[in-house]
Amino acid sequence: MAEDADDETLKVAIVGAGPAGYYTAESLSTSGRPVEIDMLDRLPTPYGLIRFGVAPDHQSIKAVARRYEKTALKENVHFVGNVELGRDVTLDELMMLYDAVVICCGAGRDRPFTVPGADLKGVVGSAAFVGWYNSHPDFVDLDIDLGIHSAAVIGNGNVAVDVVRVLAKTPDEMAHSDIAPQAEERIAHAPLRDLWMFGRRGPREAKFTPKELGELGKLERCVPLVDPAQLPPPESDADLEPGRRKVMELLRRYAENRPEDKPVRLHIVFYARPVAVLGKDRAEKLRLERTRLDEEGRAVGTGEFFEIECGLVVPCIGYRSNPIPGLPYDERRGCFRNEGGRIRERLYVAGWARRGPTGTIGTNKPDGAEVAERLLREVEPAGRPGRTGLDRLLCERHVRIVRFRDWKKIEKVELERGAGIRPRVKFCYRDEMLRLAGHEPRPEARTIGNQEADTSTARETIS
Ligand code: NAP
Repeated sequence: MAEDADDETLKVAIVGAGPAGYYTAESLSTSGRPVEIDMLDRLPTPYGLIRFGVAPDHQSIKAVARRYEKTALKENVHFVGNVELGRDVTLDELMMLYDAVVICCGAGRDRPFTVPGADLKGVVGSAAFVGWYNSHPDFVDLDIDLGIHSAAVIGNGNVAVDVVRVLAKTPDEMAHSDIAPQAEERIAHAPLRDLWMFGRRGPREAKFTPKELGELGKLERCVPLVDPAQLPPPESDADLEPGRRKVMELLRRYAENRPEDKPVRLHIVFYARPVAVLGKDRAEKLRLERTRLDEEGRAVGTGEFFEIECGLVVPCIGYRSNPIPGLPYDERRGCFRNEGGRIRERLYVAGWARRGPTGTIGTNKPDGAEVAERLLREVEPAGRPGRTGLDRLLCERHVRIVRFRDWKKIEKVELERGAGIRPRVKFCYRDEMLRLAGHEPRPEARTIGNQEADTSTARETIS
């Protein structure tokens, strides 16, 4: 095909350099087959959800990036940062350049929160809120007003727990985190007195895990509270698996806490679903309906309503992948339609983009391995140009590529800024990262074919 093509080596492009991307690359690169892997990411930084999704005070989870770095430094793996599918290169072009393409772009968009008033100022979806405190370039400038006494988080998953914990922690408790400085400043000065976490179903149906729920019981200034009347009797825990039993134990312990124990109260409320955000120009109150479970275990309204005052509402109700033109999309699950990780010939998908936003970071490992094995079984090298072709195309389009060595320059300064106290102080603006990577600012639009491409960022993707 191309003059510099190599007929023996399988050329694979992975779109998204987050956990799914790196686990897929790890399996491909250690398969023993000659493979050349290019990992594209629309941001100038690798690691996706590890950098922008995992909470800033969960450094032990973020440490998995060291494993990804081993893969990134392999001779046959290349990071191609600051390159966005659809903006800098099309899927059709990648399919022409590579023997196989694996979509690992995660799920960076919130599941829609559709109650009346959801568009009021002070209602901030979890993708944006988590991105804001994690220095995501798309969200760093969000003007989140925390001059408030009460905030509500919707959902009973681990993201909801992350958000209330980050809001509840003191500056001392965050001192060894890599929280975005502007978020830290606002949280530190917020006059918060009441935090709320609402689950539309019951404690047995909650999705948070014991370790994460347990952390809420160890906060310096915040006490978790549960209404004992919402908990089933302890005898009914017998049929639960150990993790869920531990969750129930923790909730029972929190039911013994008293509101006056600490200055900030975290009210963990079950059987309540939001029906409206109320307020004139901004969120002032949240209106909820009490629920019960129907025979299928779904939450149904009881017709009993109540309101709480709150100046911030953060729906943490799950994520969806951003659709990609030309790819079949499963609207219900919010991911790409696939069969065992295969979308169509030579095109695969792994991670949250494959199965929806479920599981821990580690769940992506077998997922990536399975997709890599399948790809290796099904695709033969066909002399496609791979990296040399991509480089040429991106060079023609004047795309400022960030290589892994450039990222290491950015990272070096981030680590230095941590001054031995914090793990790092992240850069959050693309231009400052591109400058450190050796690129001059260049504002003009890029082109795909004859069409002018939008250089503004798609706000919702976390690769
Ligand atoms: P999740 O675990 O699916 O939880 C979503 C929550 O939102 C559920 O309680 C769900 O209730 C609720 N919900 C959905 N739609 C709703 C609506 N319209 N109104 C009210 N409530 C609604 O999702 P997540 O918290 O975003 O987490 C995503 C994945 O990342 C999970 O697998 C999670 O474990 C993982 N994660 C892990 C960690 C960690 O390990 N430390 C940290 C963060 C995230 P129903 O159950 O009734 O649907």
